[in-house]
Amino acid sequence: MSAATSTRPADATVGAVDTHCPYCALQCGMTLSPAGRASVRVRPRDPSAGGLCQKGWAAAALLGSPARLTTPLVRDGGALRPASWDEAVGLVARRIKEITADRGPDAVAVFGGGGLTNEKAYLLGKFARVALGTSQVDYNGRFCMSSAAAAAHRAFGLDRGLPFPLTDLEGADAVLLAGANPAETMPPFLSHLRRAMDAGGLIVVDPRRTPTAERAALHLAPVPGTDLALALGIFHAAVADGRLDHGFVGDRTTGFDEAWRVAAAWWPERVERVTGVAAADQRRAAAILAEAASAYVLTARGTEQHSTGVDTVGAWINLALALGLPGRRGSGWGCLTGQGNGQGGREHGQKADQLPGYRRIDDPTARAHVAGVWGVEPSALPGPGRSAFELLDALGTPDGPSALLVFASNPVVSAPHSARVADRLAALDLLVVADIVLSETARAADVVLPITQWAEEDGTLTNLEGRVLLRRRALAPPPGVRTDLEVLHDLAVRLGQPPERFPADPETVFTELRAASEGGPADYSGVTWDRLRAGERLHWPVPAGPAFRRPGHQGTPRLFLDRFAHPDGRARFAAVDHKGPAEPPDEEFPLYAITGRVLQHYQSGAQTRRVEELRAAVPEAYVEVHPDTAERAGLRDGAAAAVVGRRGRVLATVRCVPSMRPDVVFLPFHFPGAQRANLVTNPALDPVSRMPEFKVCAVRLSPAGEREAQ
Ligand code: SF4
Repeated sequence: MSAATSTRPADATVGAVDTHCPYCALQCGMTLSPAGRASVRVRPRDPSAGGLCQKGWAAAALLGSPARLTTPLVRDGGALRPASWDEAVGLVARRIKEITADRGPDAVAVFGGGGLTNEKAYLLGKFARVALGTSQVDYNGRFCMSSAAAAAHRAFGLDRGLPFPLTDLEGADAVLLAGANPAETMPPFLSHLRRAMDAGGLIVVDPRRTPTAERAALHLAPVPGTDLALALGIFHAAVADGRLDHGFVGDRTTGFDEAWRVAAAWWPERVERVTGVAAADQRRAAAILAEAASAYVLTARGTEQHSTGVDTVGAWINLALALGLPGRRGSGWGCLTGQGNGQGGREHGQKADQLPGYRRIDDPTARAHVAGVWGVEPSALPGPGRSAFELLDALGTPDGPSALLVFASNPVVSAPHSARVADRLAALDLLVVADIVLSETARAADVVLPITQWAEEDGTLTNLEGRVLLRRRALAPPPGVRTDLEVLHDLAVRLGQPPERFPADPETVFTELRAASEGGPADYSGVTWDRLRAGERLHWPVPAGPAFRRPGHQGTPRLFLDRFAHPDGRARFAAVDHKGPAEPPDEEFPLYAITGRVLQHYQSGAQTRRVEELRAAVPEAYVEVHPDTAERAGLRDGAAAAVVGRRGRVLATVRCVPSMRPDVVFLPFHFPGAQRANLVTNPALDPVSRMPEFKVCAVRLSPAGEREAQ
């Protein structure tokens, strides 16, 4: 693999810089070497941990992309034109003041992202609550991790994606991956599963035979939307076959009897009729996990992005608890976080119901602590606002916000029922988007603010194992762009805030974040940038004690070894039952549509579609379908197809894949316009996490009309 290069200028004074990849939550270490002012060489810092995937190798190419925004844009006479920062930010501040004066603070909303650094996520939440005074703030992580997070809170009293170090997985003899395809989403992760794969202990639950499923000893391919029933079946098999860990369940959990009362009715043969997974395979999965000396159950978006996502994850946790896996060294349950800062992004206050330190915004003690750090009265902090889809769906309505500020997100492509979301954005009086390129959402904006990229700024992220990482600046940003922190600082000052309340220096922001998080579930008070610069591996919580007097705490690589985080120290079984998807197939729409990622692209594709090496590999949307299903629809491999659902249609090229279930089509979700998978996805929400049901909806397949294919 060749090093990626860019043509943008580099800091002449900066040599090789150790930093991390800009994409997924694995946050692979990389060294960037700006060579003169013409190119940036990328090297993996830890080849033995799997190195980098293709996206990581190509990451630097975007630094010099001609698609890069370097000047603010304002809409004028229907078109976007270049403007000065003073004009653009001045316009935003003036319109916010007018809209707020007219309709109150909740008329202005903020939408953040799981790719923002901890410092940005923190300052964005503070900006919303203090500078704007709005409750209307949420972020795209609601679409990513919220079901797993809610299920982990319910079961363990605390949510950290992996409550153990990633490297612990290297000792595993058995790993069940539910709805995860790391062979494409984060390939280096597989290096941690070598032992389990060699031992015949990898179990993959996925309706598709993905590249990850190809590596599994046991691939369970349930009907889409039936994962919860499958988890109940394996749980049932474990208990019925005498594999229940009575000692662990008795000593360290509560709620088994209630959970078992539900699961007792889901014997494997009944589950087979619902899921299509053979009863013998369910029993084999239970046996592999129970007989392994070291076993893990890991979930990801495929099993989480459902209108029953929290209960589905709860069912997988039940299985892990029944086998006595969580809270022990060398075994456990965990969730594979998706976005680069998916973990830290949900801890520091950009989520509608949270304050920094993973505190609840409706907790009076938490409000008092954070208000004290921010220098405001607790009563001045707004309460919880709408969740991400509900917020987007309310835009421009009589009761909803009429202005929206978007940071690090591209909801025109990534939100469910995306045509409806685009309509709602069009109904706004003011849409402001901060981005590095003219994303599909930025194209719809009234004001576009060009911001720095990952290699042009310092900041911290928290990876999938809850470890705080320092992302280092390797290059000077191009003239004309600012950091998100500088944008928030400027806007806050123009809105009447004291400048020192919104610092633009990331290390200063982090110092304040430490104080705001102190004593909270995600306590960062003992983390300092100097400790990170020195290479310390710090998993939160890292408490420092009052006034940071004990900064030497070594962090918490393994949670729950002595007790779970509920007041009684016990984990909770959940009495969860199978319900099925909100929109099952019927006569009109007889197929299940499922969505996911491909190796070369990331999230909405706003970045990776602009990297030529990645774009050339997968330039457009496709639909994977069984050859018989294609033939029945009058299609063959390479044909232009329309995937038609109740909310819209997606245009995609047919890929015939014999291993596909005949009742399922698969759409990657990285593509814009008429190729958006989210034109058909269902915004039915989980009642607890408010996670939309991205992973299953009903569609039919037909040839694309000539007009549609153009
Ligand atoms: Fe980057 Fe994730 Fe690929 Fe690692 S696996 S190189 S973090 S995209």
